[in-house]
Amino acid sequence: MLIDSHAHLDSERYAEDRLGVLRRAGEAGVGAVLAIGIGEEPRGMVRALEICRQFNGQPGVPRLWASAGVYPHNAPEIDDAVLAKLDSLLAEPEVIACGEIGLDYFHEGAPRPAQRVGLIRQLEIAAARKRPILIHCRPKEAMTDAWDDLFEILESHWRATGLGGVMHCFGGGWEQARRSLDLGFLVSLAGNLTYPKAQPLRDVAARLPVESVLVETDAPWLAPAPHRGKRNEPAWVLRTASVLAGLLGVEEEEIASATTKNFFRLFELSPDVGN
Ligand SMILES: [Zn+2]
Repeated sequence: MLIDSHAHLDSERYAEDRLGVLRRAGEAGVGAVLAIGIGEEPRGMVRALEICRQFNGQPGVPRLWASAGVYPHNAPEIDDAVLAKLDSLLAEPEVIACGEIGLDYFHEGAPRPAQRVGLIRQLEIAAARKRPILIHCRPKEAMTDAWDDLFEILESHWRATGLGGVMHCFGGGWEQARRSLDLGFLVSLAGNLTYPKAQPLRDVAARLPVESVLVETDAPWLAPAPHRGKRNEPAWVLRTASVLAGLLGVEEEEIASATTKNFFRLFELSPDVGN
């Protein structure tokens, strides 16, 4: 069994065939999917949880969990009402993570200070609810600015919680991977691992310990080769897992069982009873 640790199942692009997408994932051997609850804006944070509740238990559908959080671009919209909503969502048993949250200095969809404040306020809520976090971090081209700020914030506002988290769609260098592992984070690889120009990322991935990796689709974006450019879907996480297995020099079954074990360990879940 494989787990897609990051998919935007609430995307409008699945409006017509969400059940079909989930069943294809089930048929492909994807046993669970973490549905990311950022919506198009903070008001939509609840959608991932709604999808979990709608589809969990339906024949052929992977086990679904949800997250909730405010994406860096939406940081200026964070107010007390949004934080109260986030807090109540994180109290739900299916909502196992806070995210994706973090810093995006590449698109800079919100001013950097607002992104940092928004991140810190969400860390406080996630800590109180004892939920690991899903981090989105994207620096300016050829820089490490967002990573540097991120690690400074995590050192002062997160490390002491011991809750850890996931570096989602990891795209940093070895130094950033090393610091993530040192913080007790899992490093999650997405479809871009399979792209021709991603050799630097493959070189980093090849050095990761198998007990610290996850795989994800980030669907509907970042479809792995040979589907690049198409709408991505959880079934295709197998492609990324297969490339990662090659890099780490292990069998595909070992990547499947290791990433599944890593996921359950981080979120303190057991395969049968859920959270
Ligand atoms: Zn995402």
